Amino acid sequence: MLFTDLKIIKPILDALEKQGYEKPTPIQEKAIPSILQGKDFLGCAQTGTGKTAAFAIPILQNLTERTGPRNNQIKALILTPTRELAIQIEENFEDYGKNLPVRTLVVFGGVKQGAQEKALRRGVDVLVATPGRLLDFISQGIISLKHLEIFVLDEADRMLDMGFVHDVKRIIKMIPQKRQTLFFSATMPKEIDSLANSILNNPVRVEV
Ligand code: AMP
Repeated sequence: MLFTDLKIIKPILDALEKQGYEKPTPIQEKAIPSILQGKDFLGCAQTGTGKTAAFAIPILQNLTERTGPRNNQIKALILTPTRELAIQIEENFEDYGKNLPVRTLVVFGGVKQGAQEKALRRGVDVLVATPGRLLDFISQGIISLKHLEIFVLDEADRMLDMGFVHDVKRIIKMIPQKRQTLFFSATMPKEIDSLANSILNNPVRVEV
């Protein structure tokens, strides 16, 4: 199978070619069509499987093709446990979305918030965030998730290991119920499975 078989739009195909990607990985083959259709998705996949592109590509495409009013609001949120992962994910969105007018930003803790705040105020479509810093910005009224359409929980099992599950649950309570949810975890212990069941709506399930 080739990326062209997955109904990916030309600006993204061109960007993938620039990256030197020749064909989709197994998780991408399965995830991209269902996420493009607006379905919820549960992926049991490790880092290294190409899972980031599996959600980044269809999110960029969905946001590009939806013709709603262009507001200055966050439409997709990717929640991930560490700064390193957050930076990597945001770089992938930049790479695959380089020919699109979609604005992406990453926010994480451990650094002063000034520069991140300034960038947020300029307007962002896709936000990649770690839980603590996201909650800080929400509580200060700098971030609103009222217009969120797509929510991604990345590395859910690591969120649990790092003690972020309470923060994650708080964030989920603040996002619209009517949304598309994508859930990724390398392992599926009981607590993660029940979290997945509580936030996903009839998901497509893939294990790689
Ligand atoms: P991930 O599992 O998302 O951390 O991705 C692992 C690595 O695979 C990253 O360096 C990606 O840039 C790369 N990658 C993702 N999809 C593909 C693909 N279809 N072909 C070649 N490399 C890819």
